[in-house]
Amino acid sequence: MTEMLYLYDHYLKEFDASVVEFPDEKSVVLDRTAIYPRGGGQPSDKGTLIFEMGRKIDVIESSKDHDRVTHFLSEKLTPEEMISLKGSRVRGIVDWELRYKHMRHHTALHILSGVVFHKFGSRITGGQIYPDRARLDFTLDDLSKERLAIIESEMNRIVSDDREVKKFWLGAEEALKMKELYRLSADLLPKGLEKLRIVDIVGFDAQLDGGTHVAKTGEVGKITISKTENKGKDNKRIEIVLAPRS
Ligand SMILES: [Zn+2]
Repeated sequence: MTEMLYLYDHYLKEFDASVVEFPDEKSVVLDRTAIYPRGGGQPSDKGTLIFEMGRKIDVIESSKDHDRVTHFLSEKLTPEEMISLKGSRVRGIVDWELRYKHMRHHTALHILSGVVFHKFGSRITGGQIYPDRARLDFTLDDLSKERLAIIESEMNRIVSDDREVKKFWLGAEEALKMKELYRLSADLLPKGLEKLRIVDIVGFDAQLDGGTHVAKTGEVGKITISKTENKGKDNKRIEIVLAPRS
């Protein structure tokens, strides 16, 4: 089991951990990590691990299977290293430039989905975050110029409000009763969880979420709708880009 430090502190850039095991010569499981594994539309972090004896190896990809996070390494370890490093201490460093781009785009998507949900009652059928753009698919029948103008200006109003983005945990039973927290159109909730995490843009919109977010909506910066796509009668895609951070 890996303690997922990124769920509790979205700004944690470095951490200490221990090696639980090496599934093979190019991957490692730690007892705790701040290197985000891909999931929920947010791409994997990259990072660096500094093992005992000073061996420094990049993490090129991170993935999660239930409560276990595996980091995939840029270099092979020798069988001797794998034996001697098991249980040893590791220093982990998150590629912060990349992660912060994912965080800004993730919060931007929550602003987008909040606006579309509250204005037009639409839910989400899919989405993806990239370092330079992000998109969501909605159960919307109409995506007129007028609607897009409303969506864009409402999104930027939430950004300029500089609202706090908080996270908290709710018992699964309690959370599932609050239908507005659950924005996906299909029933894709992981089963058997005791607690679910909520990300709350205070006074605007709260959603079930396991990703990483900026602390205030002002950090997102100006949001522009860069592309839309008609993917069917009740399926419309909206892509957004963010103004570069000064
Ligand atoms: Zn999310």
